[in-house]
Amino acid sequence: MVRDQIDRIGVVGAGTMGSGIAQVAATHGYDVRMRDVEPEFVENGFGSIEHSLDRLAGKDALPADPETIRDRIEGTTDLDDLADCDLVVEAALENMDVKRDIFADLESVCDDDVLLATNTSTLSITSIASVLDRPERVVGLHFMNPVPIMTGVEVVVGQKTTDEAVELAHEIAEDLEKTTWESDDKPGFVTNRILMPWINEGIRAYDEGVATKEDIDAGMELGTNVPMGPLTLADHIGLDICLHASETLYEELGDRYKPAYLLKRKVEAGELGKKTGKGFYEYD
Ligand code: NAD
Repeated sequence: MVRDQIDRIGVVGAGTMGSGIAQVAATHGYDVRMRDVEPEFVENGFGSIEHSLDRLAGKDALPADPETIRDRIEGTTDLDDLADCDLVVEAALENMDVKRDIFADLESVCDDDVLLATNTSTLSITSIASVLDRPERVVGLHFMNPVPIMTGVEVVVGQKTTDEAVELAHEIAEDLEKTTWESDDKPGFVTNRILMPWINEGIRAYDEGVATKEDIDAGMELGTNVPMGPLTLADHIGLDICLHASETLYEELGDRYKPAYLLKRKVEAGELGKKTGKGFYEYD
């Protein structure tokens, strides 16, 4: 399958991320099938999409009227309805067994050349794909939350993912006006490997009475110029998602809180950053 052959995108899961991915795909002219396990979850997904489209329409930020975009999305509870999709993005629960079952079902339903992408935050792409006869077509397409607003997508390369699958993943994300970067299939990839310890430290600081939750968020926002502090961001991501992600990282990586070995070596070498002209980057 190449980019020009992709007209219909399947989305598995109509929650926070699935509804966002469906919305963005429909906004960019794709036909979309959005599948969840219960009709009410599909309806909730449409509720979020309609709310978001109305807000974007109010800011003149849509290429078509909200109804036209909304009508490009078909909801379903039947995975078989994804049979004629040219690409599927899975955005269901962050649980390995659930995702493996979904991918095994997708393999039996979809054509052999359909790219199967997962929006997993931390789970191994290789491991999810291991239950398939053709694991080479599984890739991570890690959208950021909220999908209609955030401009970045992390493309995650499993051990068996082909170069063609990776290229197509970049192309599709770019078609959706996202900017991509690539990560190897290591726990948490680039983003959550670094983000989750930061969120957990914010939660611990609150729990240990370092400051109020408002001051922890304000300290990080004003002190480090991030748009949201750790507690507000955790709420936006979903605390269950954060916990699943943190548990996966802990299981795979253990104690990540000691000073990094390379940090010590850099300081001993006098490579202190901008002030010495060299840290991790070089400065004139
Ligand atoms: P969510 O809980 O909002 O939605 C998950 C949806 O999947 C639910 O509606 C649930 O009913 C549905 N579901 C469960 N099993 C299913 C199945 N077999 N088939 C179809 N649908 C099924 O979760 P979310 O925040 O949208 O996260 C979805 C995925 O995206 C997770 O893997 C998560 O790690 C990842 N992710 C989340 C964020 C975030 O900020 N929330 C960011 C990036 C990636």
